Amino acid sequence: MMTCKEYSKLLSESMEHQLPLGQRAAVFLHGAMCTPCKGYKRTLAMVRQVSRELADDEGASLSEEARERIRKALADLT
Ligand SMILES: [Zn+2]
Repeated sequence: MMTCKEYSKLLSESMEHQLPLGQRAAVFLHGAMCTPCKGYKRTLAMVRQVSRELADDEGASLSEEARERIRKALADLT
């Protein structure tokens, strides 16, 4: 079983590019069995969602202050 640290690293890698099958299986298993990491996975998905929205045209209507606040919140999470 991989450690939570390895899991978090591989999870973010898996969002950037396709992992080898063995690693994907290990990530899947750990994510299914480890409660803290389930929460982490949800947080990461949320962060990515917010980042995408910020990159959208809609995000462009956010005030500079709101963007800064979100950037800080995201930096705290990672
Ligand atoms: Zn874990």
